Amino acid sequence: MTASHRAFMRARSVIAGGVNSPVRAFKGVGGEPIFMQRGEGAYLFDVDGRRYIDYVGAWGPLILGHADADVTRAVADAAARGLAFGAPTEGETELALEVRALMPGLERLRFVSSGTEATMTALRLARAVTGRDKVVKFEGGYHGHPDSLLVKAGSGALTLGVPTSPGVPAALAAHTLVARFNDADSVGALFAQHGNDIAAVIVEPVAGNMNCVPPVAGFHERLRALCDQYGALLIFDEVMTGFRVAAGGAQALFGIRPDLTTLGKIIGGGLPVGAVGGPAALMDQLLPDGPVFQAGTNSGNPVAMAAGLATLKKLKAPGFYETLSQRVAALTVGLSEAAARHGVAFTTNAVGGMFGLFFAEGPVRYYDDVMRADADRFRRFFHGLLGLGVYLAPSAYEAGFVSAAHTPADISATVAAAEQVFSRLSG
Ligand code: PLP
Repeated sequence: MTASHRAFMRARSVIAGGVNSPVRAFKGVGGEPIFMQRGEGAYLFDVDGRRYIDYVGAWGPLILGHADADVTRAVADAAARGLAFGAPTEGETELALEVRALMPGLERLRFVSSGTEATMTALRLARAVTGRDKVVKFEGGYHGHPDSLLVKAGSGALTLGVPTSPGVPAALAAHTLVARFNDADSVGALFAQHGNDIAAVIVEPVAGNMNCVPPVAGFHERLRALCDQYGALLIFDEVMTGFRVAAGGAQALFGIRPDLTTLGKIIGGGLPVGAVGGPAALMDQLLPDGPVFQAGTNSGNPVAMAAGLATLKKLKAPGFYETLSQRVAALTVGLSEAAARHGVAFTTNAVGGMFGLFFAEGPVRYYDDVMRADADRFRRFFHGLLGLGVYLAPSAYEAGFVSAAHTPADISATVAAAEQVFSRLSG
């Protein structure tokens, strides 16, 4: 019996499902979660002492790798000064200024403690300033778990959303309209029918919760134009893409100015931080200057701000994103070539420091393409790699992440391990 198994059994006796976020339970791939003990650079070490090359990166935040020395030092220094004050600190302003320098459209920010809080606040603000209730999201898009966003497409086009979870009122889900990612016409059709009731369109600018699907040319331009035409706000949910696909996020990469931006993950450098930001005129509608309610005991926590600031500062190193993209390309090209050598139908997507692997012929542009990929093959691939010391996200529907700590040798070792697994898959 492994130490990891024992740890899981013990956790199950006291934690719902044994995990504190469901994807960690390995339900998507079968088997049991691996309990981790420590991380160092590109590696995770489990409680049985096994080492893994990590492509999860704590689900996105760890763009510098595990336990980066500058980040952990900043955290220790901040902690030594006090863990929380519940009063403003200058670290909040420092981090906000750093974010605004990278994303100039975020004239004002409000820090929260998770991506979920950020999207929830963005929606409330959008509804408040437009006086409208409906929001458009995309099938396969994930924005955390505000009730209004735990919604998928109803059957047939132009239907109102249906809850994806018990406990989400159908009446609330009816205010959420669900469109098809990369199909601006589907958004146009929703606006044609409900245009005067739509407060906002919320989109992951690179879809990262249905594996990894980049936008097709012109998609975001059409969203921007539709929102302008109908007086709705465009919300870029950059919780995943912010500082991941480029220093300035997807909005810089694609040259689109959203009305509101939500951030999370990297902005906290591994500690719990989220943010919502946008033009002063919009953001000043939040309490205390405006009427829209938003608050948080842990918001702007000084230790979390220090982790975020230390992380963002390092992203400005010359060539940071070029190197990251090169590593991602070496990985995706290497994996594709290895799969081809073994006759395994396989394709990849990549933007900046994020990537997607699909057991399907490409291209993968739409939610239906993602769903067509062979999830059973992914499961076998996942477990094969895990056994060889490579840790992928335990789900066929999650993006993968490379960090600045991944070396060319780590990438080659990963491709070599994958080659072995592909040879078994083709048999
Ligand atoms: N938005 C996006 C695009 C995400 O990927 C996530 C989490 O994965 C969230 C929002 C929710 O963030 P959190 O898990 O911090 O609540």
